[in-house]
Amino acid sequence: MAETLFSFAGQDMAIDLGTANTLVYVRSHGIVLNEPSVVAINSQNGKPLAVGMEAKRMIGRTPANITAIRPLRDGVIADFDITEKMLRYFIQKVHRRKWARPRIVVCVPSGITPVERRAVEEAAYHAGARRAYTIEEPMAAAIGSGLPIGEPSGSMVVDIGGGTTEVAVISLGGIVVSRSIRVGGDELDTAIIDWIKKEHNVLIGERTAEQLKMAVGSAWPYADEPSAEVRGRDLVTGLPKTILLSSPEIREAIEEPAQAIVDAVKYTLDKTPPELAADIVERGIVLTGGGALLVGLDHRLAHETGMPIVTAANPLQSVVLGSGKCLEEFEALHSVLASSARP
Ligand code: ADP
Ligand code: MG
Repeated sequence: MAETLFSFAGQDMAIDLGTANTLVYVRSHGIVLNEPSVVAINSQNGKPLAVGMEAKRMIGRTPANITAIRPLRDGVIADFDITEKMLRYFIQKVHRRKWARPRIVVCVPSGITPVERRAVEEAAYHAGARRAYTIEEPMAAAIGSGLPIGEPSGSMVVDIGGGTTEVAVISLGGIVVSRSIRVGGDELDTAIIDWIKKEHNVLIGERTAEQLKMAVGSAWPYADEPSAEVRGRDLVTGLPKTILLSSPEIREAIEEPAQAIVDAVKYTLDKTPPELAADIVERGIVLTGGGALLVGLDHRLAHETGMPIVTAANPLQSVVLGSGKCLEEFEALHSVLASSARP
């Protein structure tokens, strides 16, 4: 069903299987695919109708016989069958020729079970991998953000994705302390929906909430804060209604999940051995994942932890770039990858 995008046959590839977005990196080419992790399913026969961008446009707009599913939504693989279909679709989109067998590295959430990890590898083998590897998300994010993971020195990375926030302290190529919470960008969107429902009696959709968050959302006050108009359904009259929302209102709406993210960072700092904590004071905490783009989150974290905060250069790409680097520098970095042989 996937038409091949480019013919990168035989080229090793790295995949960031994110809860919100999937990215594919091809060795010596860089990032070749970046699409939402969404699958639209025909609910009558269970067959996928659309994957990625096209499927995301359908969220909240489907008739009864179509469902738009985010199979990884909460960070764990909620629907394995659909995750596998999606993974195969994306792999086949960049690699079709069955006789060329690439190495495939798939980045997985750190809370994944061994069974799920094995199933991800199997999906990669089915799609034609010579050898399938997995890498844990915080490790990939740290490599992709340019942190010196192999040194005997502590680095802290906070990856705020759609479904989860993963905080990890890395030293000597391994994760020393970590914390993963099921709060990420999606929770901020839901909090906005709930708040508008409660304060304005208006119901807005998920995609509208996400757009509102990106346009006027923030975690710390700033100068010249914008406002935005949103359209939803008035819960009293049942009719469409437009309301004007200010930045402080949205900040209030997302306060609870924003604080949960801050608390996860503080908790991890508290569990960090003192020598490594001293390294982090020097280097700063690195923020990555799409949630790192929330305006003022860096100031908020700096204020609450007293640590310097550095936002990664490309927060939405750190993980796939880190996984890709493991392919480019396979000899030096393969110790951070896990793999079982082809079944
Ligand atoms: P995942 O790795 O789980 O797929 P991503 O790292 O791709 O997640 O980040 C996706 C999340 O980042 C979404 O919740 C999205 O709304 C959020 N996001 C993206 N851009 C911004 C922005 N400018 N401001 C706030 N949140 C953003
Ligand atoms: Mg991610």
